[in-house]
Amino acid sequence: MKHNFGAGPGILPQEVLKQASEAVIDFNGTGLSLLEISHRSKEFEAVLNEAVALVKELFAVPEGYSVLFLQGGASTQFAMAPYNLLPSTGKAAYLETGVWANKALKEAKFFGEVEIVASSKADNFTYIPKDYTIPADAAYFHITSNNTIYGTQLQEFPKSPVPVVCDMSSDIFSRKINVADFGLIYAGAQKNMGPAGVTLVIVKDDILGKVDRKIPAMLNYQVQIEGGSMYNTPPCLAIYVSMLTLQWLKAKGGVEVIEQENITKARVLYDEIERNPLFKPVCATEDRSHMNVTFVMENPELEKPFLKLCDERGIVGIKGHRSVGGFRASIYNALPITSVYALIDVMQEFAEGNK
Ligand code: PLP
Repeated sequence: MKHNFGAGPGILPQEVLKQASEAVIDFNGTGLSLLEISHRSKEFEAVLNEAVALVKELFAVPEGYSVLFLQGGASTQFAMAPYNLLPSTGKAAYLETGVWANKALKEAKFFGEVEIVASSKADNFTYIPKDYTIPADAAYFHITSNNTIYGTQLQEFPKSPVPVVCDMSSDIFSRKINVADFGLIYAGAQKNMGPAGVTLVIVKDDILGKVDRKIPAMLNYQVQIEGGSMYNTPPCLAIYVSMLTLQWLKAKGGVEVIEQENITKARVLYDEIERNPLFKPVCATEDRSHMNVTFVMENPELEKPFLKLCDERGIVGIKGHRSVGGFRASIYNALPITSVYALIDVMQEFAEGNK
């Protein structure tokens, strides 16, 4: 048995993987693989409709928002958001909380002026800046809700005078949000919602149509809304697996229930990191992520032997990102708390052997 703490693509529920593998052979008794049925078939249309309906239900998406399943990953959204929202004579505000936020703001610079309202770069993004003003004349304010690499997370969303654009790639559906607080939410599916290859977008319809540049069809939210996420052939399998994962989440009790589980998983793991003399946390306590838990060793020479023991005990994917070092345990929705306890056992076993 493996305990998958990988950061992305992340763990998916076992039953979802089983259903998905069956659909690859015979989709819902059609005698055809999901990979070979038409995306315009009534069978696939039902999948897409249900996926959209589940997003709306789980997040209580209010009227006036569109839900899209697009391609190109969150990285395409880094450009698509300013392409559609940032007038060439206007400016956009960004909170720089990590490499992904930085990549997003670099893309925005192709389209207009960018103001970085605050940055934690000088401290290797170990905290979320809180002391800043959002310019009221910005077209939007861009934030990254969870910083996958560093293990920081916005615990509260800013009250903003302009639409908030949020990259939720690594904590989408991990906690309750109020969609009305956002103009645009986007997330690559492959951490908490499904496989790589599909990107969820929730966009407030009335923030669109305010730039006068011409936008290529695939990168135009309005075109994608009018095409019902089917302007071109959509990634059917990725959408189907996302739908299954959302069904799984709903059956568990939805985002409120998973949020409590995620809080508990994060707490027991941080408690062990604090308690165990060999390990120490990386980030500011109040900004710690409930999705990606980063930690290092007091003695870096012990890192390799610890990783070796993890490997022997079936703990997978906890090597830290190269820009932080140490370890990163990603504890996404589908990771059971028993896996967190398995990691804690290994940490304690290792500490016993290295007194
Ligand atoms: N944003 C965040 C917060 C991420 O963690 C990642 C990937 O790890 C990305 C964006 C990039 O996503 P994609 O690979 O879907 O372009």
